[in-house]
Amino acid sequence: MKLITPLLSVFLFLISTTQTVAQDWLIERSEWGSTDSLVESNRHTIEYITIHHGGEIFEDEKNVYTYLKNLQSWSRSARGWMDVPYHYIIDRQGRIFEGRPLDYRGDTNTAYDPTGHALIVLLGNFEEQEVREKQKESLKTVTEYLAKWKSVPASKIKTHKDYAETLCPGKKLSEYLATNEWQTFLNDLESQ
Ligand SMILES: [Zn+2]
Repeated sequence: MKLITPLLSVFLFLISTTQTVAQDWLIERSEWGSTDSLVESNRHTIEYITIHHGGEIFEDEKNVYTYLKNLQSWSRSARGWMDVPYHYIIDRQGRIFEGRPLDYRGDTNTAYDPTGHALIVLLGNFEEQEVREKQKESLKTVTEYLAKWKSVPASKIKTHKDYAETLCPGKKLSEYLATNEWQTFLNDLESQ
């Protein structure tokens, strides 16, 4: 027991400092059949958290695993991107999928430079669809995790339309992000 305790502390220290600790809420890339083709020149350091919507109506019965696999193929073949454009994808049920590896900058069809941005997308078109409670909860989970891990201040947690000419993240998600609920959440992050 006398030996085990220090060993256990060293082990816990090691797993808490490595970046590859599995999050129990995260569906990892390997689980949706992702393949890697990492481009070293795309490496970046996270300074911002930027929120998006998928921009297309996402029906409940649509298979997210297949959707991500297809999005990855399209990103590479049609756009010449390294991977899916976003780092975290939240589906309509609030499940959180790992997208592009976080250490590699994302991609965009609009005019802003996503270098330094951790990109989170909520599936749906929030010009028309409602943001579900489970999506909001998951958005908080990912945002809190990233803000603490990467020391991103609340002032750098924004949305796509704060940087580019776009409707993204859609009317209803923008409305939610302007509520006291979200603002309180950001203030609480700041004071922790
Ligand atoms: Zn966007």
